Amino acid sequence: MVEAMSQLQEEKAQLQEELVVLRERLALHDSDQQVAAAQLQNQVENLKEKLISQAQEVSRLRSELGGTDLEKLRDRLTVENERLRQELRRCEAELQGLRAQPAVAAAAAPCPGCEHSQESAQLRDKLSQLQLEVAENKGVLSELNLEVQQKTDRLAEVELRLKDCLAEKAQEEERLSRRLRDSHETIASLRAQSPPVKYVIKTVEVESPKTRQALSESQARNQHLQEQVAMQRQVLKEMEQQLQSSHQLTTQLRAQIAMYEAELERAHGQMLEEMQSLEEDKNRAIEEAFARAQVEMKAVHENLAGVRTNLLTLQPALRTLTNDYNGLKRQVRGFPLLLQEALRSVKAEIGQAIEEVNSNNQELLRKYRRELQLRKKCHNELVRLKGNIRVIARVRPVTKEDGEGPEATNAVTFDPDDDSIIHLLHKGKPVSFELDKVFSPWASQQDVFQEVQALVTSCIDGFNVCIFAYGQTGAGKTYTMEGTPENPGINQRALQLLFSEVQEKASDWEYNITVSAAEIYNEVLRDLLGKEPQEKLEIRLCPDGSGQLYVPGLTEFRVQSVDDINKVFEFGHTNRTTEFTNLNEHSSRSHALLIVTVRGTDCSTGLRTTGKLNLVDLAGSERVGKSGAEGSRLREAQHINKSLSALGDVIAALRSRQGHVPFRNSKLTYLLQDSLSGDSKTLMVVQVSPVEKNTSETLYSLKFAERVRSVELGPGARRTELGSWSSQEHLEWEPACQAPQPSARAHSAPGSGTTSRAGSIRRKLQPSGKSRPLPV
Ligand code: ADP
Ligand code: MG
Repeated sequence: MVEAMSQLQEEKAQLQEELVVLRERLALHDSDQQVAAAQLQNQVENLKEKLISQAQEVSRLRSELGGTDLEKLRDRLTVENERLRQELRRCEAELQGLRAQPAVAAAAAPCPGCEHSQESAQLRDKLSQLQLEVAENKGVLSELNLEVQQKTDRLAEVELRLKDCLAEKAQEEERLSRRLRDSHETIASLRAQSPPVKYVIKTVEVESPKTRQALSESQARNQHLQEQVAMQRQVLKEMEQQLQSSHQLTTQLRAQIAMYEAELERAHGQMLEEMQSLEEDKNRAIEEAFARAQVEMKAVHENLAGVRTNLLTLQPALRTLTNDYNGLKRQVRGFPLLLQEALRSVKAEIGQAIEEVNSNNQELLRKYRRELQLRKKCHNELVRLKGNIRVIARVRPVTKEDGEGPEATNAVTFDPDDDSIIHLLHKGKPVSFELDKVFSPWASQQDVFQEVQALVTSCIDGFNVCIFAYGQTGAGKTYTMEGTPENPGINQRALQLLFSEVQEKASDWEYNITVSAAEIYNEVLRDLLGKEPQEKLEIRLCPDGSGQLYVPGLTEFRVQSVDDINKVFEFGHTNRTTEFTNLNEHSSRSHALLIVTVRGTDCSTGLRTTGKLNLVDLAGSERVGKSGAEGSRLREAQHINKSLSALGDVIAALRSRQGHVPFRNSKLTYLLQDSLSGDSKTLMVVQVSPVEKNTSETLYSLKFAERVRSVELGPGARRTELGSWSSQEHLEWEPACQAPQPSARAHSAPGSGTTSRAGSIRRKLQPSGKSRPLPV
């Protein structure tokens, strides 16, 4: 508020200063104008005076040249001449009369003292008198000549002065052209003052030659003077013209001055108006500011009052605080001693507490280990109850590749109340199967992964796990295991889960996850991550006598992030692509294995665990016998058949807890021996194509699945239930090819017993009573 007021005051002061400056400038302007007018007036006066003096000079010269004296002299001379002429004439006449008288005089000589001689003496006197007069006149004439000469000199002088005057005048006229005002009157007065010059030229005829000569000279001079006068007139005329132009200029200047004056007047008026409005604005602003200031002042006053009351209430508080402070100060003085004592006792207490915590910790650690064992046991029990070997089916959706028409119609249906039942319409007959779980075509990758998640995590606890994708080519094995980059399958999801689980346990456990990728084609094992993928690898027993198997030369990559996994997958894929021109075909004839090893160390106990997760995308299970394959295709089919039936045998042997499990019958089972035996867990995902044209293969796959599942090692009830074989499933079974049958062929072990599960399907099915070999 105060700032706004001071700003306004500053603005007001500035405006006032500007006003003063403007006024001074206006006054200066006015005084300048007055001074200029006075100067102009002075100049005009000077010019007037000069003109008057020049006119006087001109008139004087005129009078000197042609007027008064000279004319008078001439008149006088003329008169004198006339008189002299008359006298001369009279004298001549007398002379003649005298000339005629001498004879008379001579005759009358002898009479001296006669009348004639007296007269002649008188005449002689008169003559001498006249001669004297002539002499006098001659003197006068020379005097006049002298005078004329003098006047001529003066005239030249006057001419020079006139020239100077003209030059001066020209200068003056230049100045006049800027500010002259009253030239017109001056010209008028000049006109009035310039008297008409009249020259009376009278011819003076002088009898006397000398007089005549003088006269003619005078006339010549007179002529010259007249020319001069004419020139003067010319000059005068020019001057008049100049004066006229000066007058015009003056008028223009006056008009300009008037215009300037009007402009000045207007500017002055505007300025006054602006000043007026500014003054009003200023007053208004001051009023507003004042009003605001008053309001603020009021608020400040109120605040002040509040603060005062606060102060009044605070004072007692301050007093109590000061008292407290003083008390505390006193206490603080004794504080170090107290502190030392307290520290001593606290140290003792802490020592005791640490000891207690330590013993508690030991106890907890012991309990924890016990719990860990218990958990493992429970988990094992759970898995055992669920069955160490679980079989699920996944039906893929109908795709474009299935084509159109009756062959591409859907032949698979599901039980809405039981997600472990699948119905297949084969050759017009409905066949039903019960597995651990059935995934419909609408099941997502995550849904499927959810089912296998527990197996994957058990790997962290040191269990070995195998997950197989089984089924005919094109049924979705690779999709389930690998998936697509946008929608990854079990492989990538499993590794991601392992990473997150490992991270969660990072405070207690240290984990090391490694990945290997291998393929078995025509019973040959190859390293997909190795530098030389075509190199054949062998499976060997560990030389340490532990009975463990290992593959010398199989590359293991340590992975720490999802990025690492992607790199490993990409590398394996590139290796496979460069190796085989038709990868799709090749991959359908080979088993692809991703082996994840999780090694963990318990930071507190030093306990070590190793779990293996084997993710296997099996070769296509379709039977090629019907197509009459030959050569390499037949050889491939034999190998596939052999390995798949070996797998079936091994699983059957494991489930029926046979003493001998024929692991060595194929490279696949031999390699996975560790992960299939003991506490290991196995999951088989049987991939199913839903369309009509694939029902034979679908039936074959589902039978395989059911048999694998029914070769139960779990509760007897279960074994009994699942052992039944439907007579309705009367299949024209034919071996896929003449592959050598594994020696330890597994048989489904249909035990007789009661069905613990509802057995809704089973009851519909008539037991065939005969056991069949695994359809491999
Ligand atoms: P396989 O590996 O058994 O030969 P694939 O995994 O290559 O079969 O699947 C064959 C085709 O079917 C592929 O184009 C795949 O994308 C598609 N497919 C399989 N399963 C699914 C599914 N659950 N959802 C969508 N498409 C699927
Ligand atoms: Mg595939």
